[in-house]
Amino acid sequence: MVEVLEGLHSIDLSEKGDHSLESWVLNCPEGVVIIDTGMNPSALDKIYSELKSIGKDWSDVKLILITHKHRDHIANLAKLKELTDAPVKSHRLEAPLIEKATDVKVEGLEDGTLLGFCGGIRVVHVPGHSEGNSCYYLSRLKAMIAGDTVFSDDEGNLIPPPEKYCLDVKMAMEEIKRLLDYDFKFLLYTHGKDVMEGAREKVKELVEKTRLR
Ligand SMILES: [Zn+2]
Repeated sequence: MVEVLEGLHSIDLSEKGDHSLESWVLNCPEGVVIIDTGMNPSALDKIYSELKSIGKDWSDVKLILITHKHRDHIANLAKLKELTDAPVKSHRLEAPLIEKATDVKVEGLEDGTLLGFCGGIRVVHVPGHSEGNSCYYLSRLKAMIAGDTVFSDDEGNLIPPPEKYCLDVKMAMEEIKRLLDYDFKFLLYTHGKDVMEGAREKVKELVEKTRLR
């Protein structure tokens, strides 16, 4: 079990030789929320053993949130929907694209929407990596779940998402500043080590560095 903050579990879905890959499980009083699905079938086993470790089952999952449409975030969505029958939500610009890729119904969210789990999950739209790429902000935990909005270099420093993975890399770099509208201490993102100290400060440095280019 990897409970990084109270009720928030980071699931390491990487396999030998893979880049690191994360999904998240939120154990809320209102039900369990899963954020992103991973890519390989083994990801579902890992998510399931995390659920079991907190005494939960697939039927306790009440919401599936997707950060964006890329395959390593949605490939298991159809299977996960079948196992949980939970509603699936993403930003409204991303929802039709995910529906098309997975054949699963996805409800569209607006920037700023507050979802009633764990004291409120705020949708933070950060376009550029993809159209509707979104982060999910947990105000009670002061945690930002950032998906692919940031990456890390080999030394573990935060960097913008690499151009080859972006719809519009300039926009992706420019819009990282949207995270600074929120007060967070912890930053959890898909491809790299979670930042568990001074996260907002580190994002601010990244925004300033990117601006100087
Ligand atoms: Zn991506």
